[in-house]
Amino acid sequence: MDCRTAEDLMAGLIDNELSPGHQALLEEHLQRCHACSELLEKLSEQPLSPPPMSPMGDEFWSKMDGALSAAIDDELEGAAQDAPEAEPSGLKKPPWRPSLALLFYAATLMFALGWGLYSQQQLQLSQQETAMLQDILERERRLSVQPVTIPTALPGSSHTFANNTPSRGTF
Ligand SMILES: [Zn+2]
Repeated sequence: MDCRTAEDLMAGLIDNELSPGHQALLEEHLQRCHACSELLEKLSEQPLSPPPMSPMGDEFWSKMDGALSAAIDDELEGAAQDAPEAEPSGLKKPPWRPSLALLFYAATLMFALGWGLYSQQQLQLSQQETAMLQDILERERRLSVQPVTIPTALPGSSHTFANNTPSRGTF
C-alpha cells in the first residue's frame, strides 16, 4: 500500500468503516510509515463534527431576544401612555398586563371566529345557490317534458317579444 491510498483510508479507519482486510493493510502500512501514522494521529485529534458554534450562536439569539422584548416593552409603554388615564394617578397601575402570548392568542381567536363566520356565510350562500340551481333545473326539466309555446306577440297587440331573450327588449 502506498501513502496516498493509506491517506484515503484513514478517514474510514477513524470512523470504523473499513473492512477488516483494508484495516489490516492500513495498519501494516502505518507500522512501517512514520509520516502516515503521524498524519493519522493528527486526523484523529480533530473533532469529527464541526464545532456547534454557528454564525448566529446563542449569544446572537439572546441579544435578539433582549432587543425584541425591549422594543415590545417600549411599544406597550407607549400604548399605555396613549390610552386615557381612567384611574386616579395616585393608584398603582393594574398589575395585570396582557402578555404577548395572550395577545397573540386573542388575535388568533378573533381571526378564527371571523373566518368561521365568513365560511358559515359562504356555506349559507352556497346552500342558497344550490337550492336555486335545483329549482332552475327542476323548472328546466318540467319545461323540457312539457314544452310550452312562448307567445311571440301579446294577443290584440302589435307588440312582439324578442323571443325569450331577457337581454334586449323591443320597447
Ligand atoms: Zn505512508
